[in-house]
Amino acid sequence: ATSYVGFDSITQQIEHKLLKRGFQFNVIVVGQTGLGKSTLINTVFASHLIDSKGRLESNEPVRQTTEIQAVSHVIVENGVKLRLNIVDTPGYGDQVNNENCWDPIVKYIKDQHSAYLRKELTAMRDRYILDTRIHCCLYFISPTGHSLRAIDVIVMKKLSEVVNVVPVIAKADSLTLEERVAFKQKIRAELVYHNIRLYPFDTDENDEEEIQLNESIRSVIPFAVVGSERSVIIDGKSVRGRKNRWGVVNVEDVNHCEFMHLRNFLTRTHLQDLIETTAQIHYEAFRSKQLLALKE
Ligand code: GDP
Ligand code: MG
Repeated sequence: ATSYVGFDSITQQIEHKLLKRGFQFNVIVVGQTGLGKSTLINTVFASHLIDSKGRLESNEPVRQTTEIQAVSHVIVENGVKLRLNIVDTPGYGDQVNNENCWDPIVKYIKDQHSAYLRKELTAMRDRYILDTRIHCCLYFISPTGHSLRAIDVIVMKKLSEVVNVVPVIAKADSLTLEERVAFKQKIRAELVYHNIRLYPFDTDENDEEEIQLNESIRSVIPFAVVGSERSVIIDGKSVRGRKNRWGVVNVEDVNHCEFMHLRNFLTRTHLQDLIETTAQIHYEAFRSKQLLALKE
């Protein structure tokens, strides 16, 4: 018999090491004031973020996000540790003059790349580097049902150069299902028309499985989402939802909105790919530009 070397145990060693270290995942939310950004991120990670007293259930005073603000959480599931950074941003595009309103956000994203690069270049580079690079930017589109605003086009274009941008249709409960389908198609067509290339990216290295994964996610983006920090009673059960003119929206019901699709996308199916794409495409582009500039 051929001798068994046993290096296949390396997968367990890698796994063990990765699990011990845990994963770092950083998300930023961007869009006009009042589109439900703060609400949505609280909804996505609600079961984890909510404190035992059920703080999110009570009547909170209306909060306004006035500065770029990162909040960190550690989630442990089945022994796997996820360190989550959620970066909330003040609404922009609310002013009469919106010129360069995206600058602080682009700067914030670049600053994280820059901080990472500095740590990478120092002598201690083999030590674990705290990663604050933004892996996903959720871009909130107003549910007008018509088309993107000019500012959406500009900002998404700017952001797509530095980060994985994932558009969502905010407050989708204000559109009927038919209107949502039409609006989605309109948005996709406009993104193509304006030559805005968003995540996921196809590369030559993608295998059949990855191409399939990308196609499946493209067919849902932009996610039509509804957020809620409150519970409502449906059929005697308490669910996360909203009451509106037409009745009750169960946020977690896939027939009502695509909240669950977005949550699965972020926390299950694309978590690792968003992290890898950030490192391999966005950070790499930043890094080579910086290093070139240093040489000159
Ligand atoms: P932000 O300024 O984008 O952070 O928006 P907020 O999360 O503070 O929400 C603004 C208002 O919109 C609040 O009154 C929320 O209760 C409400 N809201 C948030 N998400 C939704 C949604 O999905 N549908 C509806 N109809 N209202 C929402
Ligand atoms: Mg907010």
